[in-house]
Amino acid sequence: MLDKEFLLSTIRDVPDFPKPGIVFKDITTLLNNPKAFDMLMEHLQKRYENKNIEFVAGIESRGFIFGAALATRLGAGFVPVRKKGKLPYTTVSEKYSLEYGFDEIEIHIDAFGNKKGSNVLLIDDLIATGGTAEAAAKLIQKVNENVVEACFIINLKFLNGEDRIKKYTDVYSVLEIE
Ligand code: AMP
Repeated sequence: MLDKEFLLSTIRDVPDFPKPGIVFKDITTLLNNPKAFDMLMEHLQKRYENKNIEFVAGIESRGFIFGAALATRLGAGFVPVRKKGKLPYTTVSEKYSLEYGFDEIEIHIDAFGNKKGSNVLLIDDLIATGGTAEAAAKLIQKVNENVVEACFIINLKFLNGEDRIKKYTDVYSVLEIE
């Protein structure tokens, strides 16, 4: 059984990080709590185990932790969605706007193998404005794969980020912060 109150209690709020006014949701305190981490992964496994997920794509960097753990539970492959310039082989990329300027994320051109239309689950630790996840969903669709759902451990609901993702795929958030 998922105990949302318990899980929320294991996530640490760090005020004014990385800059004044931001309350950073620190999930390292969930990860180092074996009961919390296992409860969360059990919940995600149950949700996705019968959905024929072939790949889990995790967004750099905390999406790697949850994504890789979930991929092995589902018998799926894991694909890292990385910041520009980190992946060694030929890449496909997508730009997205930040408060000031642009950022860019990439995947390897062959990240999902040769067959197109694979079922991909997109995952990250947190959705804020939704810009990063929107770019990731676009990127996966650009290489002709099927984004089954975008999954987040925490949704900062007041920023309405999920509205940007709903254009591309379904959204699921384990914990919502109003
Ligand atoms: P966004 O593109 O605005 O949805 O931002 C999402 C990305 O930024 C995710 O990869 C999060 O890990 C990170 N992020 C944004 N805001 C926070 C926050 N308040 N606490 C922790 N991580 C955050």
